[in-house]
Amino acid sequence: AQDHAAVPPVVSASLTVPLATGEQIQYANLDHAASAPCLRSVQDAVDELLPWYASVHRGAGFASQVSTKVYERARGVLREFVGARTRDTVVFTRNSTDSLNLLARSLPKATSVVLFDTEHHAALLPWRGPWVRRIQTPASPGDAVIALDAALAAAPTGPRLVVITGASNVTGELWPIEELAAVAHKQGARVALDAAQLAPHRPIDIKSWNVDYVVLSAHKLYAPLGAGVLVGRADWLQAADPYLAGGGATKQVVNWGDRLGVAWSAVPERHEAGSPNVVGVHALAVACKTIAARWADIEAHETALLHRLRTGLRDVPGLAELSIFGGPRVGVVSFTIAGHDAGLIAAALSAEYGIGVRDGAFCAHIATRRLLGKVGSTEQRALRASIGLGTTAEHVDRLVHALRTLVANGPALNYVLEDGRWVP
Ligand code: PMP
Repeated sequence: AQDHAAVPPVVSASLTVPLATGEQIQYANLDHAASAPCLRSVQDAVDELLPWYASVHRGAGFASQVSTKVYERARGVLREFVGARTRDTVVFTRNSTDSLNLLARSLPKATSVVLFDTEHHAALLPWRGPWVRRIQTPASPGDAVIALDAALAAAPTGPRLVVITGASNVTGELWPIEELAAVAHKQGARVALDAAQLAPHRPIDIKSWNVDYVVLSAHKLYAPLGAGVLVGRADWLQAADPYLAGGGATKQVVNWGDRLGVAWSAVPERHEAGSPNVVGVHALAVACKTIAARWADIEAHETALLHRLRTGLRDVPGLAELSIFGGPRVGVVSFTIAGHDAGLIAAALSAEYGIGVRDGAFCAHIATRRLLGKVGSTEQRALRASIGLGTTAEHVDRLVHALRTLVANGPALNYVLEDGRWVP
């Protein structure tokens, strides 16, 4: 059961998993930052829609009308969830990676792009303009603002885009969104916010933050995988070629000799070719509504558990927490334990204690390596524990107890490496 009755329930609260001994144990999912469990409200909404889903925007039948209504209603919910302006468009995608790639393909020619090099690969890799500047992430939020200002001062004239993250997926640390956006705008740049890790933990308000684009993923926001969104200024997206060519993105296609005449749709349909994921989008919208109604409870729940986790981890011998700024964070903690292999620890946590954590470099290789170096580690991989609505105090306590035991006594079993993973 979940500890804080006030937080919205998740469907996996009483899941059990097998230990290596065969015994079943309640699953301690401490990997919310990778994918969060589904909310009960989302499951109910999806169950209700499943008999009805049909083609969106295409059929005249009743089920198609229902699906179209549900899909378009979800746009309104997402618009409100991120605090969008009327001029903004809401494009549904597969996930944050898809959204950022769509934005990257839609930039006007010769757009200069500036970002910090500790971004998640989804935000680090899609930019291919003639001038892409990756700033080495400084040691404080204030220095980040100064470094951004300097980078933009050196950028060529013309369109500019700054890409920032709301909360790091490696350390959970919060970035100074408003301050970075203010500097960017002063220098004539637009701002894209990767809110994949921020959105499950804090309200988003792109209008008051003066952010031009925001992306997020349903599966980090307590809804199933497969839906995401890009919300932001319509003009560049409207001027760009469709991200995907196909049905739904076209108003009209005609033969003209050997050639085709194609009239592409306006945004958002312009970038939503193919039959859309109405069930996933509905699930995302219901998750947004559920959590937006409970922010105070969610913050109280997560703050208490994060404090418990960080306090407990401090008592594990040799453990060093990774940190960019040492500032406030959402419920994500990455760490290394001197003399212990992260992959082995993660395997033993799963096989011997029923705990799911992440090990590796978290699709942020530059950030993870740099932060490991900062605490004097030469490892390439770290461990990450991340909390959310499915987390209980018992899960946190179990992790701390397991780590202390593993460090003191080693694992109870032998492990072999199979296809890059340790297995008992
Ligand atoms: N940005 C951040 C900060 C993330 O944590 C993630 C997911 N780990 C992504 C982008 C990419 O999200 P997705 O895999 O859903 O596209």
